[in-house]
Amino acid sequence: MTASTFPTAFNTTKSQEIFNQAKHLMPGGVSSPVRAFKSVGGEPIVFDHVEGAYAWDVDGNKYIDYIGSWGPAIVGHAHPVVIEAIVKATYKGTSFGAPCVLENILAEMVIEAVPSIEMVRFVSSGTEACMSVLRLMRAYTGRDKIIKFEGCYHGHADMFLVQAGSGVATLGLPDSPGVPKSTTADTLTAPYNDLEAVKALFEANKGQISGIIIEPVVGNAGCIIPKPGFLEGLKAIAHENNALLVFDEVMTGFRVSYGGAQERFGVTPDLTCLGKVIGGGLPVGAYGGRREIMEMVAPAGNMYQAGTLSGNPIAMTAGIKTLELLKQTGSYAKLEATTKRLADGMLAIAHETGHAATGNQIGAMFGLFFTDKQVYNYNDAKTSDLAKFSKFHRGMLEQGVYLAPSQFEAGFTSLAHSEADVEATLHATRHVLSHIPA
Ligand SMILES: *Cc1c(COP(=O)(O)O)cnc(C)c1O
Repeated sequence: MTASTFPTAFNTTKSQEIFNQAKHLMPGGVSSPVRAFKSVGGEPIVFDHVEGAYAWDVDGNKYIDYIGSWGPAIVGHAHPVVIEAIVKATYKGTSFGAPCVLENILAEMVIEAVPSIEMVRFVSSGTEACMSVLRLMRAYTGRDKIIKFEGCYHGHADMFLVQAGSGVATLGLPDSPGVPKSTTADTLTAPYNDLEAVKALFEANKGQISGIIIEPVVGNAGCIIPKPGFLEGLKAIAHENNALLVFDEVMTGFRVSYGGAQERFGVTPDLTCLGKVIGGGLPVGAYGGRREIMEMVAPAGNMYQAGTLSGNPIAMTAGIKTLELLKQTGSYAKLEATTKRLADGMLAIAHETGHAATGNQIGAMFGLFFTDKQVYNYNDAKTSDLAKFSKFHRGMLEQGVYLAPSQFEAGFTSLAHSEADVEATLHATRHVLSHIPA
Protein backbone atom coordinates (compact mmCIF):
# COMPACT_ATOMS: atom_id res chain seq x y z
CA MET A 1 0.00 0.00 0.00
CA THR A 2 1.33 3.46 -0.88
CA ALA A 3 0.28 6.88 0.26
CA SER A 4 -1.56 7.45 -3.03
CA THR A 5 -4.15 4.83 -2.11
CA PHE A 6 -5.22 6.94 0.86
CA PRO A 7 -8.64 8.47 0.35
CA THR A 8 -8.25 11.89 -1.24
CA ALA A 9 -11.60 13.40 -0.29
CA PHE A 10 -12.38 12.25 3.22
CA ASN A 11 -16.10 11.64 3.33
CA THR A 12 -17.79 10.20 6.41
CA THR A 13 -21.43 11.07 5.66
CA LYS A 14 -22.82 7.59 6.32
CA SER A 15 -20.82 7.24 9.55
CA GLN A 16 -22.30 10.52 10.74
CA GLU A 17 -25.87 9.47 9.86
CA ILE A 18 -25.54 6.17 11.70
CA PHE A 19 -23.87 7.76 14.69
CA ASN A 20 -26.56 10.45 14.95
CA GLN A 21 -29.20 7.72 15.15
CA ALA A 22 -27.07 5.80 17.64
CA LYS A 23 -26.94 8.77 20.00
CA HIS A 24 -30.72 8.50 20.52
CA LEU A 25 -30.56 4.77 21.06
CA MET A 26 -27.51 4.26 23.28
CA PRO A 27 -25.80 6.55 25.81
CA GLY A 28 -23.28 8.60 23.83
CA GLY A 29 -24.09 6.47 20.78
CA VAL A 30 -21.67 3.72 21.78
CA SER A 31 -21.55 0.42 23.64
CA SER A 32 -18.25 1.37 25.35
CA PRO A 33 -17.05 4.93 26.08
CA VAL A 34 -13.54 4.59 24.64
CA ARG A 35 -15.02 4.24 21.16
CA ALA A 36 -16.44 7.76 21.19
CA PHE A 37 -14.21 10.55 19.92
CA LYS A 38 -15.20 12.82 22.79
CA SER A 39 -11.70 13.83 23.84
CA VAL A 40 -10.34 14.33 20.31
CA GLY A 41 -13.44 16.02 18.89
CA GLY A 42 -15.31 14.97 15.78
CA GLU A 43 -17.51 11.92 15.55
CA PRO A 44 -16.58 8.28 15.61
CA ILE A 45 -16.17 6.33 12.41
CA VAL A 46 -18.64 3.49 11.95
CA PHE A 47 -16.93 0.35 10.72
CA ASP A 48 -18.32 -1.97 8.10
CA HIS A 49 -15.74 -4.75 8.15
CA VAL A 50 -12.17 -5.54 9.15
CA GLU A 51 -9.51 -7.80 7.68
CA GLY A 52 -5.81 -8.26 8.38
CA ALA A 53 -4.30 -4.90 9.36
CA TYR A 54 -7.20 -2.92 7.90
CA ALA A 55 -10.62 -1.59 8.71
CA TRP A 56 -13.19 -0.27 6.22
CA ASP A 57 -15.84 2.20 7.30
CA VAL A 58 -19.43 2.41 6.03
CA ASP A 59 -18.43 5.18 3.58
CA GLY A 60 -15.80 2.94 2.00
CA ASN A 61 -12.72 4.58 3.55
CA LYS A 62 -9.90 2.18 4.34
CA TYR A 63 -7.69 2.54 7.41
CA ILE A 64 -4.56 0.90 8.71
CA ASP A 65 -5.87 -0.09 12.12
CA TYR A 66 -3.64 0.33 15.19
CA ILE A 67 -6.34 -0.50 17.72
CA GLY A 68 -7.08 -4.07 16.69
CA SER A 69 -10.35 -4.11 18.64
CA TRP A 70 -8.34 -2.76 21.63
CA GLY A 71 -5.98 -5.70 21.68
CA PRO A 72 -7.56 -8.99 20.63
CA ALA A 73 -6.70 -8.78 16.90
CA ILE A 74 -3.01 -9.65 17.32
CA VAL A 75 -2.91 -12.19 14.47
CA GLY A 76 -4.74 -9.71 12.25
CA HIS A 77 -8.47 -9.19 11.89
CA ALA A 78 -10.61 -12.04 10.57
CA HIS A 79 -7.69 -14.45 10.21
CA PRO A 80 -8.99 -17.24 7.95
CA VAL A 81 -7.76 -19.99 10.30
CA VAL A 82 -9.62 -18.47 13.25
CA ILE A 83 -12.77 -17.68 11.27
CA GLU A 84 -12.99 -21.17 9.75
CA ALA A 85 -12.57 -22.82 13.13
CA ILE A 86 -15.23 -20.59 14.70
CA VAL A 87 -17.71 -21.27 11.91
CA LYS A 88 -17.12 -25.01 12.16
CA ALA A 89 -17.52 -24.95 15.93
CA THR A 90 -20.88 -23.17 15.76
CA TYR A 91 -22.46 -26.19 14.05
CA LYS A 92 -21.86 -28.16 17.26
CA GLY A 93 -23.75 -25.52 19.25
CA THR A 94 -22.78 -22.13 20.62
CA SER A 95 -22.95 -22.83 24.33
CA PHE A 96 -23.13 -26.04 26.34
CA GLY A 97 -23.44 -24.88 29.94
CA ALA A 98 -21.53 -28.10 30.61
CA PRO A 99 -17.83 -28.99 30.42
CA CYS A 100 -16.26 -29.24 26.97
CA VAL A 101 -12.82 -30.55 26.00
CA LEU A 102 -11.90 -27.23 24.37
CA GLU A 103 -11.65 -25.71 27.86
CA ASN A 104 -8.95 -28.25 28.75
CA ILE A 105 -7.05 -27.44 25.56
CA LEU A 106 -7.03 -23.68 26.11
CA ALA A 107 -6.32 -24.12 29.84
CA GLU A 108 -3.27 -26.27 29.03
CA MET A 109 -2.03 -23.67 26.56
CA VAL A 110 -2.43 -20.87 29.11
CA ILE A 111 -0.73 -22.85 31.89
CA GLU A 112 2.14 -23.73 29.57
CA ALA A 113 2.51 -20.12 28.41
CA VAL A 114 2.14 -18.01 31.54
CA PRO A 115 4.77 -18.65 34.26
CA SER A 116 2.55 -17.84 37.27
CA ILE A 117 -0.44 -19.92 36.18
CA GLU A 118 -0.79 -23.48 37.48
CA MET A 119 -4.59 -23.45 37.35
CA VAL A 120 -7.00 -21.19 35.50
CA ARG A 121 -10.67 -20.14 35.58
CA PHE A 122 -12.27 -18.82 32.39
CA VAL A 123 -14.69 -15.90 32.50
CA SER A 124 -16.14 -13.70 29.75
CA SER A 125 -14.31 -10.35 30.04
CA GLY A 126 -11.27 -8.66 31.50
CA THR A 127 -13.49 -6.81 33.95
CA GLU A 128 -14.83 -10.09 35.24
CA ALA A 129 -11.32 -11.53 35.55
CA CYS A 130 -10.17 -8.55 37.63
CA MET A 131 -13.20 -8.43 39.93
CA SER A 132 -12.93 -12.16 40.54
CA VAL A 133 -9.20 -11.97 41.25
CA LEU A 134 -9.87 -9.22 43.79
CA ARG A 135 -12.35 -11.45 45.61
CA LEU A 136 -9.76 -14.22 45.58
CA MET A 137 -7.01 -11.94 46.94
CA ARG A 138 -9.30 -11.03 49.82
CA ALA A 139 -10.48 -14.59 50.39
CA TYR A 140 -6.94 -15.95 50.47
CA THR A 141 -5.43 -13.34 52.77
CA GLY A 142 -8.49 -12.55 54.88
CA ARG A 143 -7.72 -8.84 54.36
CA ASP A 144 -9.78 -6.21 52.53
CA LYS A 145 -7.44 -3.48 51.30
CA ILE A 146 -5.74 -3.42 47.92
CA ILE A 147 -3.17 -1.22 46.24
CA LYS A 148 -3.64 -0.10 42.65
CA PHE A 149 -1.74 2.47 40.59
CA GLU A 150 -2.84 5.84 39.21
CA GLY A 151 -3.75 5.55 35.54
CA CYS A 152 -4.03 1.74 35.60
CA TYR A 153 -7.33 0.29 34.44
CA HIS A 154 -8.65 -3.01 35.76
CA GLY A 155 -12.11 -3.02 34.22
CA HIS A 156 -15.15 -1.14 35.46
CA ALA A 157 -15.93 -2.93 38.76
CA ASP A 158 -16.64 -0.51 41.64
CA MET A 159 -13.49 -1.18 43.65
CA PHE A 160 -11.21 -0.29 40.74
CA LEU A 161 -12.81 3.01 39.71
CA VAL A 162 -10.32 5.07 41.66
CA GLN A 163 -7.75 7.07 39.68
CA ALA A 164 -8.49 4.72 36.79
CA GLY A 165 -7.01 4.86 33.31
CA SER A 166 -8.57 4.21 29.89
CA GLY A 167 -11.96 5.91 29.30
CA VAL A 168 -12.00 7.32 32.82
CA ALA A 169 -8.73 9.14 32.13
CA THR A 170 -9.66 10.05 28.55
CA LEU A 171 -12.93 11.69 29.57
CA GLY A 172 -11.30 13.30 32.62
CA LEU A 173 -13.98 11.83 34.86
CA PRO A 174 -13.80 12.12 38.61
CA ASP A 175 -14.30 8.85 40.40
CA SER A 176 -17.64 7.62 39.11
CA PRO A 177 -20.96 8.47 40.76
CA GLY A 178 -22.79 5.32 41.80
CA VAL A 179 -19.68 3.87 43.38
CA PRO A 180 -20.28 3.91 47.17
CA LYS A 181 -17.46 5.47 49.19
CA SER A 182 -17.50 2.38 51.37
CA THR A 183 -16.61 0.26 48.33
CA THR A 184 -13.54 2.25 47.38
CA ALA A 185 -12.43 2.99 50.94
CA ASP A 186 -10.30 -0.14 50.76
CA THR A 187 -8.67 0.83 47.46
CA LEU A 188 -5.33 2.54 48.04
CA THR A 189 -3.46 4.17 45.16
CA ALA A 190 0.18 4.88 44.41
CA PRO A 191 1.97 6.49 41.45
CA TYR A 192 3.32 3.95 38.93
CA ASN A 193 7.08 3.27 39.16
CA ASP A 194 7.18 4.52 42.78
CA LEU A 195 8.26 1.80 45.24
CA GLU A 196 8.59 4.23 48.15
CA ALA A 197 4.91 5.15 47.87
CA VAL A 198 3.98 1.47 47.99
CA LYS A 199 6.20 0.88 51.03
CA ALA A 200 4.55 3.84 52.79
CA LEU A 201 1.07 2.41 52.12
CA PHE A 202 2.05 -0.95 53.63
CA GLU A 203 3.58 0.87 56.59
CA ALA A 204 0.41 2.90 57.20
CA ASN A 205 -1.92 -0.10 56.78
CA LYS A 206 -0.03 -2.88 58.56
CA GLY A 207 -1.63 -6.31 58.24
CA GLN A 208 -4.61 -4.95 56.29
CA ILE A 209 -3.49 -5.09 52.65
CA SER A 210 -4.44 -8.22 50.70
CA GLY A 211 -2.25 -7.39 47.74
CA ILE A 212 -1.11 -5.26 44.88
CA ILE A 213 -2.76 -5.27 41.45
CA ILE A 214 -0.88 -3.71 38.56
CA GLU A 215 -0.64 -3.53 34.78
CA PRO A 216 3.00 -4.75 34.51
CA VAL A 217 3.28 -2.50 31.45
CA VAL A 218 0.66 0.26 31.50
CA GLY A 219 -1.53 0.36 28.43
CA ASN A 220 -4.40 2.44 29.77
CA ALA A 221 -2.61 5.76 30.37
CA GLY A 222 -0.75 5.58 27.08
CA CYS A 223 2.08 3.04 26.99
CA ILE A 224 4.29 3.19 30.10
CA ILE A 225 7.17 0.80 30.84
CA PRO A 226 8.18 -0.29 34.35
CA LYS A 227 11.57 0.99 35.51
CA PRO A 228 14.24 -1.69 36.05
CA GLY A 229 13.64 -3.29 39.44
CA PHE A 230 10.13 -1.89 39.92
CA LEU A 231 8.21 -5.13 39.41
CA GLU A 232 10.81 -7.12 41.41
CA GLY A 233 10.51 -4.53 44.18
CA LEU A 234 6.73 -4.83 44.29
CA LYS A 235 6.99 -8.59 44.64
CA ALA A 236 9.45 -8.28 47.50
CA ILE A 237 7.35 -5.71 49.35
CA ALA A 238 4.14 -7.70 48.87
CA HIS A 239 5.71 -10.92 50.14
CA GLU A 240 7.43 -9.25 53.12
CA ASN A 241 3.92 -8.21 54.13
CA ASN A 242 2.29 -11.59 53.43
CA ALA A 243 0.30 -9.96 50.67
CA LEU A 244 -0.22 -11.09 47.07
CA LEU A 245 1.14 -9.62 43.85
CA VAL A 246 -1.33 -9.68 40.94
CA PHE A 247 -0.43 -8.83 37.36
CA ASP A 248 -3.36 -7.64 35.30
CA GLU A 249 -2.14 -8.90 31.93
CA VAL A 250 -5.46 -8.42 30.16
CA MET A 251 -3.62 -6.16 27.73
CA THR A 252 -0.01 -7.37 27.97
CA GLY A 253 -0.73 -11.12 28.00
CA PHE A 254 0.38 -12.74 24.72
CA ARG A 255 1.26 -9.21 23.50
CA VAL A 256 4.58 -8.13 25.02
CA SER A 257 5.68 -11.75 24.70
CA TYR A 258 3.86 -15.10 24.49
CA GLY A 259 4.06 -15.51 28.28
CA GLY A 260 3.18 -11.85 28.89
CA ALA A 261 5.08 -9.22 30.82
CA GLN A 262 5.90 -11.73 33.57
CA GLU A 263 7.87 -13.84 31.11
CA ARG A 264 9.50 -10.82 29.49
CA PHE A 265 10.61 -9.24 32.79
CA GLY A 266 11.21 -12.52 34.62
CA VAL A 267 8.99 -11.58 37.56
CA THR A 268 6.36 -14.16 38.49
CA PRO A 269 3.33 -12.79 40.34
CA ASP A 270 1.02 -14.86 42.57
CA LEU A 271 -2.03 -14.36 40.37
CA THR A 272 -2.64 -13.16 36.81
CA CYS A 273 -5.62 -11.73 34.92
CA LEU A 274 -5.99 -12.32 31.19
CA GLY A 275 -8.42 -11.14 28.51
CA LYS A 276 -8.37 -9.58 25.04
CA VAL A 277 -5.89 -11.77 23.02
CA ILE A 278 -6.91 -14.94 24.87
CA GLY A 279 -10.36 -14.75 23.27
CA GLY A 280 -9.13 -14.12 19.73
CA GLY A 281 -11.91 -11.57 19.22
CA LEU A 282 -14.61 -13.31 21.23
CA PRO A 283 -15.48 -12.54 24.85
CA VAL A 284 -12.99 -14.42 27.05
CA GLY A 285 -11.21 -13.45 30.23
CA ALA A 286 -9.32 -15.64 32.67
CA TYR A 287 -7.60 -15.55 36.02
CA GLY A 288 -5.11 -18.00 37.34
CA GLY A 289 -2.14 -18.57 39.54
CA ARG A 290 -0.67 -20.90 42.14
CA ARG A 291 -2.71 -24.08 42.59
CA GLU A 292 -3.00 -23.63 46.34
CA ILE A 293 -4.67 -20.21 45.83
CA MET A 294 -6.83 -21.23 42.86
CA GLU A 295 -8.19 -24.21 44.77
CA MET A 296 -10.10 -21.73 46.93
CA VAL A 297 -12.38 -21.03 43.93
CA ALA A 298 -15.76 -22.82 43.89
CA PRO A 299 -16.51 -25.64 43.51
CA ALA A 300 -12.99 -26.77 44.56
CA GLY A 301 -13.17 -24.26 47.42
CA ASN A 302 -15.68 -21.83 48.85
CA MET A 303 -14.90 -18.54 47.06
CA TYR A 304 -17.91 -18.16 44.80
CA GLN A 305 -17.58 -17.13 41.17
CA ALA A 306 -19.62 -18.38 38.19
CA GLY A 307 -20.66 -17.58 34.60
CA THR A 308 -23.38 -18.86 32.26
CA LEU A 309 -21.34 -18.47 29.07
CA SER A 310 -17.88 -18.98 30.60
CA GLY A 311 -15.72 -21.42 28.63
CA ASN A 312 -18.23 -21.65 25.78
CA PRO A 313 -16.96 -23.66 22.80
CA ILE A 314 -16.94 -20.81 20.26
CA ALA A 315 -14.89 -18.48 22.43
CA MET A 316 -12.52 -21.30 23.44
CA THR A 317 -12.03 -22.16 19.75
CA ALA A 318 -11.14 -18.57 18.84
CA GLY A 319 -8.66 -18.45 21.71
CA ILE A 320 -7.02 -21.78 20.87
CA LYS A 321 -6.57 -20.92 17.18
CA THR A 322 -5.20 -17.46 17.97
CA LEU A 323 -2.64 -18.84 20.43
CA GLU A 324 -1.64 -21.56 17.95
CA LEU A 325 -0.86 -18.88 15.35
CA LEU A 326 1.09 -16.83 17.90
CA LYS A 327 3.12 -19.86 18.95
CA GLN A 328 4.59 -20.27 15.49
CA THR A 329 8.31 -19.54 15.33
CA GLY A 330 9.17 -15.94 14.64
CA SER A 331 5.81 -14.40 15.58
CA TYR A 332 7.13 -12.28 18.41
CA ALA A 333 10.32 -11.29 16.60
CA LYS A 334 8.13 -10.01 13.77
CA LEU A 335 5.76 -8.17 16.12
CA GLU A 336 8.71 -6.57 17.91
CA ALA A 337 10.43 -5.50 14.69
CA THR A 338 7.27 -4.03 13.15
CA THR A 339 6.33 -2.15 16.29
CA LYS A 340 9.83 -0.86 16.99
CA ARG A 341 10.22 0.44 13.43
CA LEU A 342 6.85 2.18 13.75
CA ALA A 343 7.37 3.67 17.22
CA ASP A 344 10.98 4.79 16.57
CA GLY A 345 9.93 6.21 13.21
CA MET A 346 7.01 8.20 14.61
CA LEU A 347 9.12 9.64 17.41
CA ALA A 348 11.95 10.61 15.06
CA ILE A 349 9.49 12.31 12.69
CA ALA A 350 7.88 14.19 15.59
CA HIS A 351 11.29 15.53 16.59
CA GLU A 352 12.29 16.33 12.99
CA THR A 353 9.09 18.30 12.52
CA GLY A 354 9.83 20.29 15.68
CA HIS A 355 7.40 18.71 18.14
CA ALA A 356 8.11 17.93 21.77
CA ALA A 357 7.42 14.21 21.99
CA THR A 358 8.43 11.07 23.80
CA GLY A 359 7.56 7.49 23.08
CA ASN A 360 7.49 3.99 24.51
CA GLN A 361 7.35 0.59 22.85
CA ILE A 362 7.48 -3.00 24.00
CA GLY A 363 6.44 -6.09 22.04
CA ALA A 364 3.35 -5.24 20.02
CA MET A 365 2.44 -2.15 22.10
CA PHE A 366 3.50 1.43 21.56
CA GLY A 367 2.68 5.01 22.47
CA LEU A 368 3.63 8.54 21.48
CA PHE A 369 3.16 11.36 24.00
CA PHE A 370 3.27 15.02 22.98
CA THR A 371 5.43 16.12 25.90
CA ASP A 372 9.15 16.68 26.41
CA LYS A 373 8.98 14.78 29.69
CA GLN A 374 10.00 11.11 29.83
CA VAL A 375 6.76 9.35 30.85
CA TYR A 376 7.09 7.08 33.90
CA ASN A 377 3.62 7.52 35.37
CA TYR A 378 0.16 8.96 34.82
CA ASN A 379 1.14 12.44 36.05
CA ASP A 380 3.93 12.54 33.46
CA ALA A 381 1.47 11.41 30.78
CA LYS A 382 -0.87 14.22 31.77
CA THR A 383 1.77 16.82 30.80
CA SER A 384 1.03 15.91 27.14
CA ASP A 385 -0.41 18.53 24.79
CA LEU A 386 -3.92 17.12 24.35
CA ALA A 387 -4.99 19.74 21.81
CA LYS A 388 -2.06 18.73 19.64
CA PHE A 389 -2.91 15.07 20.06
CA SER A 390 -6.46 15.79 18.84
CA LYS A 391 -5.15 17.47 15.68
CA PHE A 392 -2.72 14.62 15.13
CA HIS A 393 -5.45 12.01 15.59
CA ARG A 394 -7.78 13.77 13.15
CA GLY A 395 -5.02 14.27 10.59
CA MET A 396 -3.99 10.62 10.73
CA LEU A 397 -7.60 9.51 10.36
CA GLU A 398 -7.94 11.60 7.21
CA GLN A 399 -4.72 10.01 5.94
CA GLY A 400 -6.17 6.53 6.48
CA VAL A 401 -4.55 5.64 9.81
CA TYR A 402 -6.82 4.62 12.67
CA LEU A 403 -5.23 5.39 16.04
CA ALA A 404 -6.89 5.21 19.46
CA PRO A 405 -8.88 8.42 19.96
CA SER A 406 -7.03 9.30 23.15
CA GLN A 407 -3.56 10.30 24.29
CA PHE A 408 -4.15 7.93 27.21
CA GLU A 409 -4.37 4.69 25.24
CA ALA A 410 -1.63 2.51 23.80
CA GLY A 411 -1.37 1.56 20.14
CA PHE A 412 -1.41 -2.06 19.01
CA THR A 413 0.13 -3.83 16.05
CA SER A 414 -0.54 -7.31 14.69
CA LEU A 415 1.14 -10.02 12.64
CA ALA A 416 -0.81 -8.67 9.66
CA HIS A 417 0.89 -5.26 9.72
CA SER A 418 3.48 -5.28 6.92
CA GLU A 419 6.57 -3.17 6.41
CA ALA A 420 4.64 -1.34 3.71
CA ASP A 421 1.88 -0.53 6.21
CA VAL A 422 4.46 0.86 8.61
CA GLU A 423 6.10 2.95 5.87
CA ALA A 424 2.70 4.29 4.78
CA THR A 425 1.94 5.17 8.40
CA LEU A 426 5.25 6.99 8.81
CA HIS A 427 4.62 8.84 5.55
CA ALA A 428 1.24 9.94 6.90
CA THR A 429 2.82 10.90 10.23
CA ARG A 430 5.31 13.19 8.50
CA HIS A 431 2.57 14.75 6.39
CA VAL A 432 0.30 15.39 9.37
CA LEU A 433 2.94 16.57 11.86
CA SER A 434 4.52 18.95 9.39
CA HIS A 435 1.11 20.66 9.05
CA ILE A 436 0.62 21.06 12.81
CA PRO A 437 2.32 24.09 14.40
CA ALA A 438 5.04 22.98 16.81
C1 LIG B 1 -9.24 -3.96 28.79
C2 LIG B 1 -8.70 -4.14 30.13
C3 LIG B 1 -9.51 -4.62 31.19
C4 LIG B 1 -10.99 -4.83 31.04
O1 LIG B 1 -11.29 -5.82 30.11
P1 LIG B 1 -12.75 -5.84 29.44
O2 LIG B 1 -12.73 -7.08 28.61
O3 LIG B 1 -12.87 -4.58 28.66
O4 LIG B 1 -13.73 -5.91 30.54
C5 LIG B 1 -8.90 -4.87 32.40
N1 LIG B 1 -7.58 -4.67 32.58
C6 LIG B 1 -6.79 -4.21 31.60
C7 LIG B 1 -5.32 -4.03 31.86
C8 LIG B 1 -7.33 -3.91 30.35
O5 LIG B 1 -6.53 -3.42 29.40
